[in-house]
Amino acid sequence: MEKSSNAIEQQMEIRELVSQIAKERLAPLASENDRSGTFPEEAIRVLGEAGLPGLIISEAYGGVGEVRSTFAAVVQELAKGCASTALIYTSHSVVAKAIEIAGSDALREKWLPEMLRCRALGAFAVHERDSGSNSGAIATKAVRNGGSYIVNGSKFFITSGGEADVYLVLVRTDPAKGSQGLSALLIEKNAPGLSFGRVEDKMGLRSTSSREMFFSDCRVPAENLIGAEGEGQQVLGKSVVGWGFYGAAAISVGVAKAALEIAVRHAKERVIAGQPIGTHHAVQFMISKMMLGSESAEAYLEACAAKADASPESAALHGFKAKLFASEMALEVTDKAIQVLGGHGYCRDYVVERLFRDARGLTLHFKTSEWLRQDVARAALGL
Ligand SMILES: Cc1cc2nc3c(=O)[nH]c(=O)nc-3n(C[C@H](O)[C@H](O)[C@H](O)COP(=O)(O)OP(=O)(O)OC[C@H]3O[C@@H](n4cnc5c(N)ncnc54)[C@H](O)[C@@H]3O)c2cc1C
Repeated sequence: MEKSSNAIEQQMEIRELVSQIAKERLAPLASENDRSGTFPEEAIRVLGEAGLPGLIISEAYGGVGEVRSTFAAVVQELAKGCASTALIYTSHSVVAKAIEIAGSDALREKWLPEMLRCRALGAFAVHERDSGSNSGAIATKAVRNGGSYIVNGSKFFITSGGEADVYLVLVRTDPAKGSQGLSALLIEKNAPGLSFGRVEDKMGLRSTSSREMFFSDCRVPAENLIGAEGEGQQVLGKSVVGWGFYGAAAISVGVAKAALEIAVRHAKERVIAGQPIGTHHAVQFMISKMMLGSESAEAYLEACAAKADASPESAALHGFKAKLFASEMALEVTDKAIQVLGGHGYCRDYVVERLFRDARGLTLHFKTSEWLRQDVARAALGL
């Protein structure tokens, strides 16, 4: 289905606005926040003021109701300024999406108006120390007790951990039913029995406040169930998976394009023995490889997003493909960018070093590349 020219114009306008915000408000803070591992509160406030958290929320709930390709375009622009902020924004957006599509009216009324202005921040918590990328292997339990669930267990590596106000948590409500026994609970930061571990000292994406979460007889009101009991995977499938992987792929594209821009500028400005290094074929080959890599990942992401928007039941598979391709490409492109900058690129004062470290995490988060390759191959083989 072709987009109407109005829709295309609207996407271009939104993208232009976000690009300006990223350049003027996010990029100047990104390196310092990376060094100190500071959560980018100021950047999140700016996104809230610009109304960006409502981008993928339908108009009925105060959002803009945009499609995945616009979401991907926005996340790309954010990531060019600060990949950590783009990841925090992606996590927040998909939690709001889950509340929109499967939360009760009371939860929508309570959370969406605040989340759409970033006055309340959301995060999702699926991964556990012993589950890896396999959400079906989680062990955190939630047992119904009158009007509450009592939650016990832990979650690991949660973006915005300890900073977010509300967490979409995958729990096991029926141990006998395998993946049919999983449910999604919305758990508030100050829920009794919830505590947080230290901020992980990561190689990249250092401003995202990755923390462990501990649930010790954590009492959660039963009305905080998102979707029905046993529908946890479906809820995640329509939010964290069905939208989040497009955000994750877009972060990779944004990081790669930022690295390319810096490499091109450097190749024109760096003069050795009277010759800009960009006049050498060896450097040109690297630049052309970087350009084709980032542009083909962007085009592939756009194509995958368009297919998912046209048939949402295919969103997971197309999202896996886009994220796999874009994250592997971002790693290659940022690596080459360091090569183009030579020793300068290896120093912390030059942004490509941060982009490379950020890109390294992008083949790991959501689902690792190994899992994604298997998912894609299994779909092709009909397994
Ligand atoms: C920056 C970042 C942000 C994150 N944010 C969040 C978040 O907000 N919420 C959340 O829930 N989680 C989050 N995670 C966790 C993320 O989902 C996991 O790190 C990821 O799923 C991999 O799990 P693991 O780290 O335990 O690796 P492991 O599962 O220990 O994997 C180690 C290696 O073994 C491979 N491997 C494992 N099992 C298989 C298999 N069956 N077949 C083939 N290869 C296999 C993996 O591909 C990998 O190479 C985040 C992670 C990162 C890095």
